Amino acid sequence: MRKHIDLEEWSTCCGCSACAQACPKGCITMQADGEGFLYPVIDENTCIACGACEHVCPIKNTSPEPTGEPDAYAAYSKNTEQRLESSSGGVFSLLAEEILQNSGVVFGAAMSEDCRKAQHIAVERQEDLWKLRGSKYLQSEIGSTYRQAENALKQGRRVLFSGTPCEIEGLHRYLRREYENLLCVDLICHGVPSAKLWEKYVSYRENCAGAAAQRTFFRHKKYGWKTFAVLFEFANNTAYEQVLSKDLFMQMFLQNLCLRPSCYACAFKKKNRVSDITLADFWGCDSVCPELDDDKGLSLVLCHSIMGRTVFKAIEGKIVMEPVSLEKALYGNPSLVKSCKKPEQRDAFMMQMDSLMIPQLAQGYLKKPSLSSYIKQLIPVPLKRTLKRFLKR
Ligand SMILES: Cc1cc2nc3c(=O)[nH]c(=O)nc-3n(C[C@H](O)[C@H](O)[C@H](O)COP(=O)(O)OP(=O)(O)OC[C@H]3O[C@@H](n4cnc5c(N)ncnc54)[C@H](O)[C@@H]3O)c2cc1C
Repeated sequence: MRKHIDLEEWSTCCGCSACAQACPKGCITMQADGEGFLYPVIDENTCIACGACEHVCPIKNTSPEPTGEPDAYAAYSKNTEQRLESSSGGVFSLLAEEILQNSGVVFGAAMSEDCRKAQHIAVERQEDLWKLRGSKYLQSEIGSTYRQAENALKQGRRVLFSGTPCEIEGLHRYLRREYENLLCVDLICHGVPSAKLWEKYVSYRENCAGAAAQRTFFRHKKYGWKTFAVLFEFANNTAYEQVLSKDLFMQMFLQNLCLRPSCYACAFKKKNRVSDITLADFWGCDSVCPELDDDKGLSLVLCHSIMGRTVFKAIEGKIVMEPVSLEKALYGNPSLVKSCKKPEQRDAFMMQMDSLMIPQLAQGYLKKPSLSSYIKQLIPVPLKRTLKRFLKR
């Protein structure tokens, strides 16, 4: 029997775990490799070589890109409190509330209690939705949530399943049929950083603070949506807070040093998705719809299917929105269709991740910001806008 699923390039595995959940013998476990990314490992003694794992693999069976063009919108939630807790415009929370009405269930990524892992969970009550709110910049462990979602769908319950594009493709392959009661929401995804690096970073921050982390926020909006900050709250009532341009973890992530190998050649970066709705930050909104940008968060919403359009229509009264051209929206957010470039030092960085401390890793591998980007950071946002308008004339 085989030890691994037969992929041409092992590094293309996206870790969605559809294979582990489809195995009738339960002989596949998701195990972390040296870099901290989960891969399926088959127990050779119990495997019956039925092929179910390979049949559901979204990498072995890439689905053809659906035809047509999604409808694109700039949108934000009128619920300011929720919007400020969300990474972009807070549209996810409204879609989730819509599904929770009438006994629906919502699946998405939540942080573990020790702040070290992102894990997919099911939420059934509106008051628990905060757990899914906000981006967690590490790969969420899917666990058995595809199976749980399938059970709920078969019971006729409405289900919203949210995740990265590969997780939604994995769910589609796992389910093997369409369900009228399923709403899939994916994201424009930069790529997922190593969970092992995040764990190391949490320990480093805990050591600095002298106490355990109780809550972490990757995208706190204290200084605005665009200049977002990383925030840790510790058990001794202290906190760490740093804007993204100075936070070491965010810089390692955004300089692409620690992404999952498959993310550098993502198979699911396309305009048309198998998901019903794609959500993203509306980066570049200044030139497309500046009137909607108050720096509290603006979402780019792409509706791909009738189901997506119907649910988005149902929340119309709760959002401020404007239809936009897909081409213009793409201009500020090429991650919809393009993978990140793998830096030359990426593999050396990952090899040294265990032996070096966080500040040493940063010192050895992070590029220093250029003088022009440093100057840009110093200019306040309203002044930047005025300058931009002036230069356009
Ligand atoms: C790893 C990652 C990379 C991203 N890269 C980009 C990018 O390059 N460009 C861009 O425009 N937007 C990106 N996003 C999406 C963006 O940050 C927002 O999540 C999105 O705009 C939705 O925002 P919201 O305000 O509507 O809802 P929010 O409340 O902010 O979003 C919550 C939703 O995100 C999901 N989620 C959170 N963390 C994870 C995770 N680790 N894995 C799977 N799902 C998760 C939750 O399940 C929930 O559905 C990324 C998100 C993640 C998680």
